[in-house]
Amino acid sequence: MVDFTLTEEQQNLREMAHDFAVKEIRPVAWDYDREGTWPQDIIEKAWEVGLMNSHIPLEYGGPGAGFLDGCLIEEELAWGCSGIQTSLACNGLASTPVMLGGSEELKREYLGRLIEAPLLASFCLTEPDAGSDVSGMRTTAERRGDRYVINGSKCFITNGGYANWYTVFAKTDKDAGHRGISAFVVPRDAGVVVDKKEDKLGQRASNTATVSFTDVEIPAGNLLGAENEGFKLAMMTLDRTRPGVAAMAVGVARAAFEFATNYSRERVQFGVPIAMHQAVQFMIADMATDIEAARLLTWKSAVMLDQGQRNTLISAHAKRFAADAAMKVATDAIQVYGGYGFIKEFPVEKLFRDAKIMQLYEGTSQIQRLVIARETLLPRHAQESQTVAV
Ligand SMILES: Cc1cc2nc3c(=O)[nH]c(=O)nc-3n(C[C@H](O)[C@H](O)[C@H](O)COP(=O)(O)OP(=O)(O)OC[C@H]3O[C@@H](n4cnc5c(N)ncnc54)[C@H](O)[C@@H]3O)c2cc1C
Repeated sequence: MVDFTLTEEQQNLREMAHDFAVKEIRPVAWDYDREGTWPQDIIEKAWEVGLMNSHIPLEYGGPGAGFLDGCLIEEELAWGCSGIQTSLACNGLASTPVMLGGSEELKREYLGRLIEAPLLASFCLTEPDAGSDVSGMRTTAERRGDRYVINGSKCFITNGGYANWYTVFAKTDKDAGHRGISAFVVPRDAGVVVDKKEDKLGQRASNTATVSFTDVEIPAGNLLGAENEGFKLAMMTLDRTRPGVAAMAVGVARAAFEFATNYSRERVQFGVPIAMHQAVQFMIADMATDIEAARLLTWKSAVMLDQGQRNTLISAHAKRFAADAAMKVATDAIQVYGGYGFIKEFPVEKLFRDAKIMQLYEGTSQIQRLVIARETLLPRHAQESQTVAV
């Protein structure tokens, strides 16, 4: 039987996240966006009430929530502000490789840090010359005795300026393309340098930074999984985090849809509210359909993970569809507002700017289509020699 009913616990979780978004995020979201304010106060409050680190298992002190539970939180908080939510959610991205490949000692230490205090972690994959194609990364990790020495630079790192520790992907075999990448946990105090904070189009309250590593030494035990298996870890991580990004896209779309719907009831042209004009109604109807469809795909991709199934195809469907839907809904929300939609005093232009990133980070919409095409055209066993990066 297929049942889309949330349990009472999930309904309560969703309500709690929504209340938090209403009381703590919405009142400051547009100001924080304008000024690019770092939301430290909101991070501390969200951590306090348990809206961060939901994915960390009970055995490491976390709430051990499921992937669908995580998506419920992500949609509501992103409805409040997806920039702030990107910063709140990033620990999930950084700590998934640790949960997948870390030793018991590493998990206790680094997952424990996130539970004991409102600390942040970052996921460092992208480099200036290695975005969608991470096989071209230049950061290296050289084994010297019982240590690795890391050299290189990573760009566009969410929370990079504030993280306590970093999951870093680096080449351990320079000539082996994606098969020469390994993943490591690097504590900030090992010598990570934050070079630059980006000034962004949208999600301006989130921190996006360039970080660099010059002869940064870490214990050999900070290797995640086996040497040269970092690419696989990165891909497995993204399978697990794309449902959350899709949920955030649904949250942004829902916010834009609600503003547009309310505005269409109030704005009068040709003697009637513009909601009475069929052309406007059809935009609203398409927004509503896109949001419903995006949420269904998102939930399916999360439920598959909760059931222990491989979700590569469905999570790519969900992320691609929800991201494109958010962009379209936010664009049409501006259309419903007419000229006012273009003006910063009105709320939807922020959502339009925020929506754009959904089509870019954690694999662009083009890369999601590559994944979908590969999963559709090639049977699983024939994929061993394929490389599709984030
Ligand atoms: C705000 C923000 C936060 C981010 N956070 C993080 C983070 O925390 N950690 C991290 O590691 N990275 C992060 N990123 C990086 C992000 O994941 C990359 O920007 C993204 O993967 C795309 O890489 P790129 O920017 O180098 O674009 P490119 O790979 O250069 O792509 C440029 C264009 O070419 C297209 N393209 C590339 N290859 C193909 C292909 N084979 N087929 C079809 N089209 C293709 C792309 O879709 C895109 O349209 C973040 C980026 C931003 C902007």
